[in-house]
Amino acid sequence: MQLAFLSHSDCGRHDTGWGHPEHVGRLRAIPRALRNDFELFELVEHREARHATADELEMAHDARYVEMVRQLAEAGGGRLDADTVVSEGSWAAATAGTGAVLDAVDLVFGDGPRRSFCAVRPPGHHALRSSGMGFCLFGNVAIGAHYARKTHGAERVLIVDWDVHHGNGTQALVQDTPDIRFVSMHQWPWYPGTGPATDRGPHGSVWNVPMAAGLPREAYVTAFLSAVDSATVGFTPDLVLISAGFDSLAGDPLGGFTLEMDDVDRLTREMVSRAEQWCGGRLVSSLEGGYAPERLGEACVVHMRGLTSGEWGVGGGG
Ligand SMILES: [Zn+2]
Repeated sequence: MQLAFLSHSDCGRHDTGWGHPEHVGRLRAIPRALRNDFELFELVEHREARHATADELEMAHDARYVEMVRQLAEAGGGRLDADTVVSEGSWAAATAGTGAVLDAVDLVFGDGPRRSFCAVRPPGHHALRSSGMGFCLFGNVAIGAHYARKTHGAERVLIVDWDVHHGNGTQALVQDTPDIRFVSMHQWPWYPGTGPATDRGPHGSVWNVPMAAGLPREAYVTAFLSAVDSATVGFTPDLVLISAGFDSLAGDPLGGFTLEMDDVDRLTREMVSRAEQWCGGRLVSSLEGGYAPERLGEACVVHMRGLTSGEWGVGGGG
C-alpha cells in the first residue's frame, strides 16, 4: 500500500449544532468521493485511528485546558468561544483526530506507508496552548510534530499550512522549538487577524505568507512554494506535515482564495517530491478547513491521488 487513509467514526460525534459550517457532512463527503475513484480506493490502506491520550495532548497543551475540555464534554458540552463548540462527543472526536495524526506519524517512521492522509474533525490549527478557538480544540499537527521528535527521534520537522486562515495555533505551539519550522499561507486581512510576514516567531523559524483575496491562482501556488523553499534552505526535514485546509479553494464560504483542483494536485505533488528528496518521502497530511462539502470531498481525492505520486511513477513531482 502506498498511502494510509486514517479516520475514526468518533470524529462524527463532534456536534457543533444547527447551521455551523464545521459539521459532520464535511467528513462524510470524503469517503463518498473516494468510493467514486475505485482505482485510488484500492491503492489506499484504510485504517481506524486510535485516540490520543491526555499525556500526548499535553506535549503541546496545558494539562488544565485538556482536563477542562474532557470535563466539559462529559458534562454535556458548552462553548469555548462564539464559534468553538464542545459537545458530549467532542472529547472522543478531538482525541481521535489527534490520534490519527499520531498513528500516521508512527506509520511513516515504521513499516507502514510512507504517506498518510488523516480525514478528521474538529480541525486543529487554531487551537492554542490553553484555549480552543476557530472551531479547533487540539493542535493535531503541532502535537504530531512534537510527538515525532519525542517518540521517533526526528530532529527537524517541517509543517506547511495552506488553509485560507492563519495557523495561529500551530505557530504558537511550535515556535519555541526552532527545529520545527512552520510555513503558513493565509488570506490577509482575515480571521484570526494574526500572521503578518514580519512575524517570524522568536527564533525566526516561522514563515508567514499573508495574501490578498481574489488573486490569480498561480500567485498563491508560487508564493507558497517559494516560502517552503526559503524555509528549507540549510534545513532538511526528517518529516513533512501538511495542514491541508481546503477552504483556500475558490468558492469556499469562509475564504476568498481562488485555488482549483489542479492547484491542489500541484501543491501536493510538489510537497511529495520535496519530501522524497529530504526524508525518504515521509509525509503526513491532516485535514483542517474546507466548508463546501462537495468541493472538499473532491479536493481530498485529488490530494490523496497526489500523495500516491512520485516514486511509484503515477505522476511527476518537481
Ligand atoms: Zn480555515
